[in-house]
Amino acid sequence: MTDETNARPKTSDIQRRGLMLVLSSPSGAGKSTIARNILEKDDGLELSVSVTTRERRPSEIDGVHYHFISKREFERLRDSDELLEWAEVHGNLYGSPREPVEKAMAAGRDILFDIDWQGAHQLQEKMPADVVSIFVLPPTMGELMARLHRRAEDDEETIQKRLKNAAHEIGQWRSYDYVIVNDDLNRAFGAVQAIVKAERLRRDRRPGLFDFVEGLLKETI
Ligand code: ADP
Ligand code: 5GP
Repeated sequence: MTDETNARPKTSDIQRRGLMLVLSSPSGAGKSTIARNILEKDDGLELSVSVTTRERRPSEIDGVHYHFISKREFERLRDSDELLEWAEVHGNLYGSPREPVEKAMAAGRDILFDIDWQGAHQLQEKMPADVVSIFVLPPTMGELMARLHRRAEDDEETIQKRLKNAAHEIGQWRSYDYVIVNDDLNRAFGAVQAIVKAERLRRDRRPGLFDFVEGLLKETI
């Protein structure tokens, strides 16, 4: 190795571009559980905390799981272009605030979106190079229903509305880059980790490779 080699950045320092990891599924298939696991284990990933007009569930914390806001405030954010995407889902409004996403991306950090297919389509249209999308399927419709009941956070009417919408949501699976069947949580989680690992290594997400390779070729052997 020459002195010149020692002055070059380590491979782990090669400049990279952040990715937008989008997780969608019919309600109850387990995407929030998978998202929570991966956020706990992966320091390089942060959650895009959505705004919603839905009522807060007993287990949810305002500002952590969602920003719970009024319909009027939602419309103000939407109309002043402060949402990167938004949609009406199961009768409530949901949207991803623009500013935290833009800050994370500019700093080369990865951001995870737990959003529905309508939001996923909007992000795919706006930032096709940055979006990596994963659709989570339940192993059976019976298990989907059982999970919605086991979660025990929604009333029966809400559960029935979500089940009714499930077939249409599942019909969107083809527009995602990856599809995971969440039968076993650890296996599903492992699959998402593998996708993130590989996507981070993609050439087009590592603009610093240009300088790295240039330096490599200048080395005297
Ligand atoms: P979603 O975010 O897709 O609506 P959740 O992550 O809230 O779904 O999961 C719904 C329920 O199913 C939760 O009670 C969760 O603990 C449970 N669950 C998630 N994945 C599995 C799995 N692989 N096997 C059994 N139960 C699961
Ligand atoms: P839940 O009410 O179960 O938390 O979410 C209902 C659905 O809304 C889920 O499919 C969830 O992914 C989606 N969702 C949550 N936040 C957003 C968002 O900011 N934008 C869009 N388009 N969908 C969202």
